[in-house]
Amino acid sequence: MLGGLIVGLLALGLIVWLWTRRTDALARHPSIDCPTCRQPMRALSEATDDDDPPRGYEVLACPTCDVAVSAVHAVASAWGYCPACMQRSLQIQCAKLPVAPGRPPIARAEETCHLCGHERTRTLGGAAEASPAAQGRVIPFPAARRRR
Ligand SMILES: [Zn+2]
Ligand SMILES: [Zn+2]
Repeated sequence: MLGGLIVGLLALGLIVWLWTRRTDALARHPSIDCPTCRQPMRALSEATDDDDPPRGYEVLACPTCDVAVSAVHAVASAWGYCPACMQRSLQIQCAKLPVAPGRPPIARAEETCHLCGHERTRTLGGAAEASPAAQGRVIPFPAARRRR
């Protein structure tokens, strides 16, 4: 009886601990250097304003070259959590999109879940990262609404 209670408490503690670690990792932006130029890459925020579940990963783009990577728990990884089936079976393929010189980076992230078949393409950066000088320009997204 007492043994069961202790095991239960331990399990609860483990769940809380794991959850806190996960939230911490998501809250702070990962600091990952570009594998090609060794520059710190910037985390991009989502340009569209969909009602979909939040991303379980970050997309980082190199400020100088064409490298864009996804990061899960502040570590560069092509595998994230699927928003549909909640398993870590989501393959994320990132590609930096061409922008005019001096414009903030834009990247596309293609999500493919190999477990449940969830598929989604997200566009990140660009409008959400726009500098004051770039305001008023036409942005290449169908949804012009900003988050918040
Ligand atoms: Zn680079
Ligand atoms: Zn899935």
